[in-house]
Amino acid sequence: MTRIGYLEEHEQYRRTARAFFDREHEPNLLRYEKEGGIDAALWRKAGEAGLLGSCVPEEYGGAGGDFTYNVILAEELGRTVGSATTGSSLMADIATHILVGFGNDAQKRRYLPGILSGEISQAMPLTEPDVGSDATAIKTTAMRDGDDYVINGEKFFISNGKSANVLYVVAKTDPTQRGRGMSVIIVDADTPGVERRKIKMMGWGCGDTGALSFKDVRVPVSNLIGAEGQGMQILMGTFLEDRLQIAGRCLGAASAALELTLAYVRERKVSGQRVIDFQNSQFALAEIKTDIAVAEALLDTCMVKFRAKALSFDEGAMLKLWTTEMEGRVLDKCVQLFGGAGLMDEAPISRMYTAARIQRVYAGTSELQKVAIAKGL
Ligand SMILES: Cc1cc2nc3c(=O)[nH]c(=O)nc-3n(C[C@H](O)[C@H](O)[C@H](O)COP(=O)(O)OP(=O)(O)OC[C@H]3O[C@@H](n4cnc5c(N)ncnc54)[C@H](O)[C@@H]3O)c2cc1C
Repeated sequence: MTRIGYLEEHEQYRRTARAFFDREHEPNLLRYEKEGGIDAALWRKAGEAGLLGSCVPEEYGGAGGDFTYNVILAEELGRTVGSATTGSSLMADIATHILVGFGNDAQKRRYLPGILSGEISQAMPLTEPDVGSDATAIKTTAMRDGDDYVINGEKFFISNGKSANVLYVVAKTDPTQRGRGMSVIIVDADTPGVERRKIKMMGWGCGDTGALSFKDVRVPVSNLIGAEGQGMQILMGTFLEDRLQIAGRCLGAASAALELTLAYVRERKVSGQRVIDFQNSQFALAEIKTDIAVAEALLDTCMVKFRAKALSFDEGAMLKLWTTEMEGRVLDKCVQLFGGAGLMDEAPISRMYTAARIQRVYAGTSELQKVAIAKGL
């Protein structure tokens, strides 16, 4: 189906992104797996290709593009088989919106050039070992001491957490408060007291999902983004964007899974006939194709509304809920059509199936999306 609402420059960016992943990401998958994940070179090459920091205003050296570019990047990443193993990778670029939207001039001048070139990658540590969905219950503190904040606490399940150079740490500057006591503070990842390790996850086998520890980490108060107590507002300012890019990724992955499955069932013969010739296979594929078409239409409509600043919070939640569940449903049907070949660890469809499971949990579980939707009833 023809996509709605995309301009020629968006389509050009899509072609660049697709060619980039085909050229730089997919052929290196075996190496990434051996070395434990994507490397800094991929970020730099993405910077050279003009794929990063698409929202950075022209006065800071960027293209001043809208969020559509991030969604396209996520969709094209989702289309790669490799990203089922390498994880969120370049999607961590979404954090640039925090800096562009809420950072001050000095912070932008300090970090944006490196973000654009791919020298700097970012992470947004909010979740903690004991606190996920109930974000305002975080325990990490950033207490003022002279001209510094001293940060103490643990963060868990952080995308790009082990390899990011810059962390937007969400901490309580007023631990007596819940949401109103939360602030976002920039921490350079090499600051003394920061320790990081990768968590081995079920999907995204060599992705970077990190556990971070902050022990008496001292950063200047000038690293505060926005104002003290503005943390929740800043986070909520990224919720819609996050849901849109995850929807893009789900759409890309489901589309790629359909292509892989079609290629397989057209070749595979059972009882003398191709698997695609069974009417049951055709029905399953018809359902998959319809699911993908609905996801595409929903995402494109949400993007049109988002650009017009008319996308509501509960619509964003519906998008995340529907597209993540859609990806899971599609991948399940695809694996079934592969039979045993779809269950081998090394089979792309098997990896994509496992990776799809993550989407219903991170960035707000399906249940939390339903809570948000129910609030708008
Ligand atoms: C791969 C990956 C990447 C991630 N990246 C990041 C990142 O970059 N930064 C970051 O800060 N976090 C990140 N997270 C954390 C992620 O956002 C949390 O895992 C998610 O918010 C859920 O929190 P939790 O895991 O603590 O589950 P919990 O909050 O413990 O939830 C457990 C169960 O309870 C349910 N539940 C909770 N509240 C309700 C409710 N009110 N009503 C009904 N059911 C409820 C949940 O839906 C879930 O089924 C990532 C997670 C993963 C898996």
